[in-house]
Amino acid sequence: LRLSNKNLPEICSRNTEVEACSYSRDNLKHGIVHVGVGGFHRAHLAVYVDKLLSQFDLKDWSICGVGITQWDAPMRDALKPQDYLYTVIERSDQGSQPKVMGCLTDFLLAQDDAEAVIAKMADPQTHIVSMTITESGYFYNENTHELEAHKPEIQADLKGDGPPRTIFGFLFAAQARRHAAGLKPFTVLSCDNMQGNGSISRSMLLSFAKLKDPAIHAWLEKEGAFPNSMVDRITPRTVEEHKTFLADTFGIEDGWPVVTEPFMQWVLEDQFSDGRPPFEKVGVQVVKTLHEVEQFEMHKLRLLNASHSALAYLAYLSGFEYVHDVIADPVFNSYIINMMQHEVRPLLPEIEGVDIDQYCKTLLARFGNPTLRDEVVRLCLGGSGKFPQFIMPSIAEQIRRAPSNPADGAPLRRLTLAVAGWFRFSNAIDEHGNPIKVNDPMADELQAKAREGGQKPHVLLGIKMLFGDDLRGDERFVRELTDAMESLYTVGARKTLENYV
Ligand code: NAD
Repeated sequence: LRLSNKNLPEICSRNTEVEACSYSRDNLKHGIVHVGVGGFHRAHLAVYVDKLLSQFDLKDWSICGVGITQWDAPMRDALKPQDYLYTVIERSDQGSQPKVMGCLTDFLLAQDDAEAVIAKMADPQTHIVSMTITESGYFYNENTHELEAHKPEIQADLKGDGPPRTIFGFLFAAQARRHAAGLKPFTVLSCDNMQGNGSISRSMLLSFAKLKDPAIHAWLEKEGAFPNSMVDRITPRTVEEHKTFLADTFGIEDGWPVVTEPFMQWVLEDQFSDGRPPFEKVGVQVVKTLHEVEQFEMHKLRLLNASHSALAYLAYLSGFEYVHDVIADPVFNSYIINMMQHEVRPLLPEIEGVDIDQYCKTLLARFGNPTLRDEVVRLCLGGSGKFPQFIMPSIAEQIRRAPSNPADGAPLRRLTLAVAGWFRFSNAIDEHGNPIKVNDPMADELQAKAREGGQKPHVLLGIKMLFGDDLRGDERFVRELTDAMESLYTVGARKTLENYV
């Protein structure tokens, strides 16, 4: 049966293994507007909100989804006929557990009606605008830490003679309307994988507002809230097999289910300008200070996300399709363990109650979950947004720790090999001479520079937006990177890794 309000009771009665929202969806109000209704949002923030609605009968905190890119239309088309219900399938070696989520109750697509999106964000009922818009959605220059105000989309939104095109165009327009109406600003809650995701959101929106209207800038600077948060739940891309599995096994026809792991974590800074639901009641670690979030974030980004990025390109070049197969391979397994243990772990702060060795072991077990079938190509997406966040900071810190002793400096070989793997991949021709589809907002530039530089990293390292002078100018790092690239180009990824391990 197709998922819908009408069919849900029958779906649940036909198959008692299906868990479904037990609360009434009538009279729910949108307290949260979420931009970027992809897999991760639906498996993470929405799941916490669904628990809140189920367990505490809150009426004011359902979610209105928003898509501001042209790629969001298929999500709207999948969800609308099923009353925005969708299924989260939790997968582990214990089996697959489907749960139907009811907390999303509408979806607005900016290209249909940008005004409706602005009006929904500006509505007094809305208290939080959350977002998962990928790293590239922030127009954040890693090197200067400034808004990329020269980009045509931002320029168009600053000019403002058409509907907004970027997140900042929408956030600004809605906040300005709230200011004019004498309301509090909504909280801007980033759930993207970026160190300081709240601080970056704040700084980018304030930069935008400053260029547009100093009064709104001053108001947001004083009254706005942009909590930082660490988010974690591995969520593969939905594929056709997930839909047929759900239909064949549980009798649910769902246009866009989402598969994820049982593990989930959210460490959230308690900084909200217009109220929030009691997230802590459903397992969110709500913390008082930015410092606390930063520590958890560092563990997660530098271990989990860095490992994902480190294995992704080398695994792709070695011919792997699924992440669990990569982890089952002893050469890759030791590469990742050693990178975490020797090159990253010594840089991490101790957190009370967190055993870092255990955390690393758990990560390997999570990566190795064969039921998730997480794809290597998913981890290869958007390297230009990831390396500066996940890998380069550890390399830079290792360099800082041993700047004067290039021969015997702090360990960074494996991290550097990860960069070499990404550079080799960016060339967009695999080891058999076949084209690679590089999915990255900077794909053209990366490919042109990878080809221009060949086996040498200098041309790519010259991209100022991605690499700081500290890295470009470090003799040992550049030598390590050159060696790694030469090896990748001459003997291939697999053999190179064997030599490293
Ligand atoms: P997805 O491809 O399913 O969804 C991405 C969403 O971002 C889409 O709704 C898309 O329209 C939107 N988007 C992309 N570029 C945008 C832009 N420039 N402006 C506005 N919206 C834009 O991906 P996902 O798995 O949901 O991941 C999204 C983000 O969530 C990641 O980039 C990451 O920061 C974070 N995250 C993902 C995972 C995971 O395992 N998938 C885990 C932790 C965090």
